[in-house]
Amino acid sequence: MAQCIFCRIVNKEIPSTILHEDGDVLAFKDIDPKAPVHVLLIPEKHVAKVIDFTTENMPMVAKIHAVAQKIAKSEAVSETGFRLVSNNGPHAAQSVDHFHYHLLGGRKLGWPPG
Ligand code: AMP
Repeated sequence: MAQCIFCRIVNKEIPSTILHEDGDVLAFKDIDPKAPVHVLLIPEKHVAKVIDFTTENMPMVAKIHAVAQKIAKSEAVSETGFRLVSNNGPHAAQSVDHFHYHLLGGRKLGWPPG
């Protein structure tokens, strides 16, 4: 996906602040943070959204969750709490069509979301 902005971040064609990288999962700081801690977690191989995961690449979701645990600890929000959320499709206002979790924390987060 040559034009995908997150694929370009994976390929280091666009700079980002990377917190974790292992060949499967990339975690980097959101460029426009919505909370004191705002990290994006993505599969390095392009998957557009939740609905596109298959039995073949579904184990990637578990890998992303393991990295989310690590990031929550390193960013010091594992005890105070954090939100792991993925916007999927137009009604959820997904703006980048490369699956990602937002890991948000460092302040009290409102619920329900808008
Ligand atoms: P979503 O709207 O759920 O698809 O989230 C996309 C997120 O990607 C937004 O929070 C953006 O701020 C973030 N974003 C877009 N471009 C970049 C970039 N170059 N580096 C880091 N984060 C980005």
